[in-house]
Amino acid sequence: MGKNYRLFIDGRWVDSISGRTFESLNPATDEVNAVVAEAGPEDVDLAVKAARRAFESGPWAELAPGDRGRLLNKVAQALWEKADMLAEVESQDNGLPINETKFIAMPAMIDVLEFYAGLANKVQGSTLASPNNRFNYTLKEPIGVIGAIVPWNFPLMLTMWKLAPALAAGNTIVIKPAEQTPVSILELVKIFQEVGIPDGVINVIPGYGKIAGDALSSHPDVDKIAFTGSTNTGRLIMQAASKNLKPISLELGGKSPNIVFDDASIDNAVNGSMFGIFFGQGQVCASGTRLFVQESIYDRFMESFVKKARSIRVGNPLDHMTQMGPQVSLRQLDKIQQYVAAGLEQGANLVMGGERNTEAGNGYFFTPTVFENVTNDMTIAREEIFGPVLSVIKFKDEEDALNKANDSLYGLASGLWTNDLKRAHRMVRGLKAGTVYVNTFSMLDSAAPFGGRKQSGFGRELGIQAMDMYTETKNVWIDLNEQGL
Ligand code: NAD
Repeated sequence: MGKNYRLFIDGRWVDSISGRTFESLNPATDEVNAVVAEAGPEDVDLAVKAARRAFESGPWAELAPGDRGRLLNKVAQALWEKADMLAEVESQDNGLPINETKFIAMPAMIDVLEFYAGLANKVQGSTLASPNNRFNYTLKEPIGVIGAIVPWNFPLMLTMWKLAPALAAGNTIVIKPAEQTPVSILELVKIFQEVGIPDGVINVIPGYGKIAGDALSSHPDVDKIAFTGSTNTGRLIMQAASKNLKPISLELGGKSPNIVFDDASIDNAVNGSMFGIFFGQGQVCASGTRLFVQESIYDRFMESFVKKARSIRVGNPLDHMTQMGPQVSLRQLDKIQQYVAAGLEQGANLVMGGERNTEAGNGYFFTPTVFENVTNDMTIAREEIFGPVLSVIKFKDEEDALNKANDSLYGLASGLWTNDLKRAHRMVRGLKAGTVYVNTFSMLDSAAPFGGRKQSGFGRELGIQAMDMYTETKNVWIDLNEQGL
């Protein structure tokens, strides 16, 4: 029986009005990790009201941008001190190997906070050309109450992508964690509270998407929704937000192509492509799930790739030797198995994996899986599986690779491996995706804008650009003439 957690509303830890709770499971053991208060629409309403009050009046609304930045930097300092604890909590919450939470996700998450803390006092409007002694300028103002709905794959990092720019710009926020992984986010806000973030600025309402998530995205007093999650849920959120014509940003699913040309360094391409698909158990929106390999190097590449993939250590996420932890839930495991069955049925060749790994423990472990002889029209090449399942597709030449890569509903990320500079630039321009990786994969940086095209969503998180998603532009005209109009 794990720890108990309550909702965090207006700086207080409270039970839900209905008194309902739900269990959050540890995916490595299938045991209860925590019992968490379940927010309903009434709790969402209280959280939005608290965020509204904190936005309109009180210490937060009066804080100078520089002081806001300093406060966020103090939180970042506290997060560095507690980073190991947060990494463990996150690994128990969603099954990411400790090496990935400790050395990748936590540092990246805190870096994002520091990046936006630094931008808090650099929000600028502009002075515009204006006719006849009139002063015409723009103000960049915070939007108001932000609703953030986040998924389970990188709960802390994807929350921080929204929380940090929202707060740096002077907004307040209501966060709805995924029902599978509320714990690390609740531990995160404890640290914000300890450092002194004013009451109501951050509110967290764990609960189910169809109830708490829907109540948040359709709430008339939420000024913007920032969502990361699946494309199907993105559609529902867009519908709900449209009731009040609420602006939204959507970071959705992907089916990213990763293209290996015959002039690439094969060793680098093998290692990078392995990271591209198996990092985070394949539960990464940008994963290179469609691997295109040029015919002329196909056998050589695959021999090396499969040999390395077979050596991946699947096991306890808290063990530093583990390279792949469990999938997040039994439901996710079932979904992956259904996709494997579809791949076999449609004639793809299963090279390795394809089954649950019971040796690693009672949790939801799956074996790294590689299909070849995949064609771009098969279900496993078209739909997002969100698991460690790779579809390998052969291609002839550059044109063939580009056509196949772009033949997808999604446009989140893409990768290519080549030592031909001109080809790299041609491909970069041709690929329809929010990010292109050349001779690398799944790189992230706080300064680098991230987001999708097509059904991978719209809006860019991270980078200076993201501040635009959390500010409104107000145009101001002042007539300096004595006579007026
Ligand atoms: P999901 O869409 O099922 O859930 C995401 C969040 O939305 C959860 O908090 C959930 O409770 C909530 N939700 C569900 N139904 C809702 C509704 N009707 N109204 C409001 N909220 C609702 O996604 P998931 O399975 O948790 O996450 C995996 C998905 O996230 C994948 O498709 C992945 O590609 C995507 N993702 C995208 C990015 C990106 O930056 N583009 C990053 C990570 C994950």
